[in-house]
Amino acid sequence: MTAGNETQCRRCGIPAKGSKGNPKARPLRRAMVGECSNCAIVLFLQKLSNMSSGLLPPGATWTEALRLPHVQKQIGAVLRVGQSDVTIEEIDWERVIALWDIEPHAEGVLF
Ligand SMILES: [Zn+2]
Repeated sequence: MTAGNETQCRRCGIPAKGSKGNPKARPLRRAMVGECSNCAIVLFLQKLSNMSSGLLPPGATWTEALRLPHVQKQIGAVLRVGQSDVTIEEIDWERVIALWDIEPHAEGVLF
């Protein structure tokens, strides 16, 4: 990770690091101001889930599916292929699940 400015996640409010990001990163490029990695994953997956639920086992909801190691692995593969600035290692899945349903830009939401 390159050095960046201290900022705050726009979505959940935790301190986050802003940085330039890799211009080649397709999903989830880091920005100077934006969301923390976990919120970025939530937003990315929610966008994805509007298009296709192909990553989901039949009948499962996203928050259930995100606990499944093979689903986590597939998401990791999507990030890797897209040269994302977010790596699978920095994702805290329990936090992603906790953040799944919060109102975007809610203030003072802390876990
Ligand atoms: Zn956040």
